[in-house]
Amino acid sequence: MPKKAPSSLQYDLAIAGGGLAGGLVALALAKLRPELKIALIEADNRFGGNHIWSFFESDIEPEHRWLVDPLISRQWDSYDVHFPKYSRTLANGYFSIESANLDSELRKRLPPESLITGQRAETVESGRVKLANDTVIAAQAVLDVRGGGDISALETGWQKFFGQMLKLGKPHGLERPVIMDATVKQIDGYRFIYCLPFSDTEVFVEDTYYADTPDLDSATSHGRIAEYAAARGWEVEAVLSEEKGRLPVIYGGDFDAFWKANGDLDARAGARAALIQPITSYSLPMAVRTAMLIAEMPEINQSSLDKMLRDLATEHWKNGKFYRLLCAFLFLGADLDKRYKTLEHTYAKDEQLLARFYAGKSTKMDQISLLTGKPPIPVSRAIPLLLKYR
Ligand SMILES: Cc1cc2nc3c(=O)[nH]c(=O)nc-3n(C[C@H](O)[C@H](O)[C@H](O)COP(=O)(O)OP(=O)(O)OC[C@H]3O[C@@H](n4cnc5c(N)ncnc54)[C@H](O)[C@@H]3O)c2cc1C
Repeated sequence: MPKKAPSSLQYDLAIAGGGLAGGLVALALAKLRPELKIALIEADNRFGGNHIWSFFESDIEPEHRWLVDPLISRQWDSYDVHFPKYSRTLANGYFSIESANLDSELRKRLPPESLITGQRAETVESGRVKLANDTVIAAQAVLDVRGGGDISALETGWQKFFGQMLKLGKPHGLERPVIMDATVKQIDGYRFIYCLPFSDTEVFVEDTYYADTPDLDSATSHGRIAEYAAARGWEVEAVLSEEKGRLPVIYGGDFDAFWKANGDLDARAGARAALIQPITSYSLPMAVRTAMLIAEMPEINQSSLDKMLRDLATEHWKNGKFYRLLCAFLFLGADLDKRYKTLEHTYAKDEQLLARFYAGKSTKMDQISLLTGKPPIPVSRAIPLLLKYR
């Protein structure tokens, strides 16, 4: 029997991957370029997966905030950090987005023919995306945002975490998020607890590690969260939801080889283009910036998208050198139980410097300031790392 010809659909832009980066590009285009016919292709049945994504106020340009404002579930004016030597409250706003909001906003803002879920993109190349069901999405331009690809050319440690939304019997008493509570026992590298007070009696608690390996035992973390809650006098009535993650923390490697290993299409963004904050491995701020850059391009075609995104990723990699050096200090220069000292040293600095640090906009003076003072790792270990990674 002759094989049925694959059906073919025609779009201006096909976005392969409906996660954070792809979803934000689609939302930016829906608002600023409504004339474009977009296909957002997602393997899962919902966009964005199951995440809570957070960012600092200083991470996103005020003129770009309209893109994420409808997605925000909770916001706070300030946040706390706790280290063995000190605790500190910092006056930078902190915002959390639940991925379910990204899914619902996409369904509200884009026409149904733009939203293709439950379909894996099997082939992603210039001019077309072929789906697992043989449908061909033909497009003037194709964007690959299928998440982290092959990172074997990069040198990385891991940030891994297990989080639970706890429902408490009585108010927890937290006034603001605790971004890092590093007073907990240091295990498997730099360990801290992250807390987001979603309501008076609901708190999201995450057990986090900057470790050499990505494996994480949820049951162990579960027990450690229960221990932390008990130590704070919190009576846990129920666990409302859970999330688990492991993100590579890049401290070195060959960017060109990484790029080559992830296909021929230069039009990529998000984790696949290493558009992440090197220290935190968070990508929301860069995903917003990328979405705005794409939406504001005078003409969106394959060659203009390829060039703009390859240049953006290359520039981002170059600008990340200083942060990767700090990651090398943390992962290669410190004993496991002393890794926390790199962050303790960093958090003692000026508030504005810290805001620029997270936004990936540290000045030369900031960098000098971060490298001065009592070093968090022995000088004999710092010098070879400086020579290799600076
Ligand atoms: C638990 C957790 C918490 C996090 N918290 C934060 C945070 O607070 N702030 C922050 O900035 N970052 C955070 N991150 C990191 C952030 O989620 C990632 O950096 C971000 O998701 C990367 O965006 P992306 O669009 O490149 O990839 P993803 O969001 O992973 O999106 C890729 C999408 O492509 C889809 N896909 C893959 N292959 C195919 C295919 N062949 N065909 C079709 N679809 C495909 C996937 O299903 C996925 O939906 C967190 C990560 C985790 C795991």
